[in-house]
Amino acid sequence: MDAQGEASRWLLALSTHLSSNEPARAAELFLDECYWRDFVAFTWNIATLEGRAAITAMLVARGQDTGASAWNLDGAPRMSEAGTEFWFTFETKVGRGRGHARLKDGRCWTLLTTLRELKGFEEKSGETRPLGTTHGAVRNRTTWADQRATDARLGIDQQPYVLIVGGGQGGLGLGARLKQIGVPALIIDRHPRAGDAWRNRYRSLCLHDPVWFDHMPYLPFPDHWPVFTPKDKMGDWLEAYASIMELDLWTSTACRNANYDPGRGEWTVEVERAGKSVTLRPKHLVLATGMSGKPQVPRIPGQDLFRGIQHHSSAHPGGEGFAGRRCVIVGANNSAHDIAADLWEHGAEVTMIQRSPTLVVRSETVQRLGWSLYSEEALKAGIDVDKADLIVASTPFAVLPQFLKPVVERMKQEDAAFYDALRAVGFQLTFGEDETGLGLMYPRRGSGYYIDVGASELIATRQVALRSGIGIAGLSEDAVLLDDGSRLPADLVVYATGYGSMTGWAADLISPEVADKVGACWGMGSGTARDPGPWTGELRNMWKPNAQEGLWFHGGNLAQSRHYSRYLAIQIKARFEGLPTQVFGLDASGPRVQPAFDRLNIS
Ligand SMILES: Cc1cc2nc3c(=O)[nH]c(=O)nc-3n(C[C@H](O)[C@H](O)[C@H](O)COP(=O)(O)OP(=O)(O)OC[C@H]3O[C@@H](n4cnc5c(N)ncnc54)[C@H](O)[C@@H]3O)c2cc1C
Repeated sequence: MDAQGEASRWLLALSTHLSSNEPARAAELFLDECYWRDFVAFTWNIATLEGRAAITAMLVARGQDTGASAWNLDGAPRMSEAGTEFWFTFETKVGRGRGHARLKDGRCWTLLTTLRELKGFEEKSGETRPLGTTHGAVRNRTTWADQRATDARLGIDQQPYVLIVGGGQGGLGLGARLKQIGVPALIIDRHPRAGDAWRNRYRSLCLHDPVWFDHMPYLPFPDHWPVFTPKDKMGDWLEAYASIMELDLWTSTACRNANYDPGRGEWTVEVERAGKSVTLRPKHLVLATGMSGKPQVPRIPGQDLFRGIQHHSSAHPGGEGFAGRRCVIVGANNSAHDIAADLWEHGAEVTMIQRSPTLVVRSETVQRLGWSLYSEEALKAGIDVDKADLIVASTPFAVLPQFLKPVVERMKQEDAAFYDALRAVGFQLTFGEDETGLGLMYPRRGSGYYIDVGASELIATRQVALRSGIGIAGLSEDAVLLDDGSRLPADLVVYATGYGSMTGWAADLISPEVADKVGACWGMGSGTARDPGPWTGELRNMWKPNAQEGLWFHGGNLAQSRHYSRYLAIQIKARFEGLPTQVFGLDASGPRVQPAFDRLNIS
């Protein structure tokens, strides 16, 4: 049968079995090994159902309530190595969705369903954009500036429905989405200016991901934008974004603590705004405080004796003033490499201490082989950023290894000389325990890698010295003492030792009990290093309901923030409008703490 016929028949059968509420028959349309990834549409959750039994259970619980209908092919199905692939649209009782399926021999291997908008609460854009004025003569008319001034009193005259703590790209992007669907959301950030989280990072930093991957919701970077955005430029873009998107943002405002009253379904949040205490009472609290925001500094004997400078990578200003100084960098991931290169450029004598293997990928190679969906070529092929995000979402985490392993193998072959040169100086390499590379290292543990933009050559040519496979016994007044008995004289020690879990923010701002109840954020229980099981199939607690009512975690890289903020916003909007949002598969399992971030990981 041709792809079109196969796809149409399958979609019709699914539609029929769902309409007649026959979950088991619907599940029979799937292969033995099958995956249904749902973004909110059926589950009011972000969940992957693995296997027919799980699909049946979900449909028994949610099929009738969801009331899915109007399944239609969206574009022409195509044959690929994975089988017959096609896009489709559908409706539920409350919204409209898009989806993707891969069929093999007429049965479904992977299915994606996403809820894109709520009926009656569609975003006003394109043909439905607001007029912006009232034509005719109107006495005492409210101008745009008047309206903005009124809006700016959110949190003073009117309580926000949502309080977003953190005005980095995560908080701003989510704030923009909520604004577009009419949810009163206040964003607070302790920094004086939007974008400061980027501005405050070390001077040489440029985004490691290319521009096509990094667009914010609604406002893509212009075509002349450089491939790799310098961090201050990124900061300025975010500040402009907050203004253009008319976000309600309080800067110089720190969240001090938050308590939830289940009876009232409301948070009491104490914030300090420019030195003054303010109490806010939102119904929902989003922690967008950054997964790279809570510096993890190891405790090392003798730190109090050391007479030089020592700081975490997040506090490292840059290489100025370190010419001829002996600088030791503890750690061997992205920040460690960037800072090593920057110090070297400033004439410092740099040594990197690597305790465990690092995943290194060359920027040029990863762009060509790993990020092809986000590129000029993809755009020419009609794949815009939204489509690219959906294509990525169409592949459940469980099946990613089979797609990623061949790419990693190719990278290893193409860059064999590069890797040999690193091994020759003792640099320990990994490509992930199961050789799945960056594609899974990042969602599993959010660390452990370097996207090479030049520091590897300095290491391979010994211009940056390396001590590998070694731990730190302590610090003396003027040196780092290694556990093989050797000492590294040092004027500067930089702890490029990573960041704490977002769960830690909940412990700090709400309570250790709530953090414990919620459990780990990030990772999916792959059972690989620093991502212990049980397997959850999706990132734990991110962008979806968790064990604490009214609390949400939002974060990740620019691409994740952009994509997932859409589904987080729609979940909150549904609650704002009082729609029924029965959550299926609330993730109450998983480790209480996340070893990935909990130990002092000098990687
Ligand atoms: C060195 C480095 C390089 C990186 N490179 C890239 C890259 O190339 N591409 C990419 O996509 N990502 C990159 N990242 C990841 C990066 O952290 C995130 O993409 C981005 O910063 C995450 O945005 P966010 O809004 O989730 O968090 P953040 O940018 O960390 O913002 C969190 C905000 O929360 C605020 N905050 C925290 N606590 C409170 C409180 N109690 N009260 C009020 N405000 C609070 C902070 O002030 C901060 O502004 C990099 C990270 C680092 C450290």
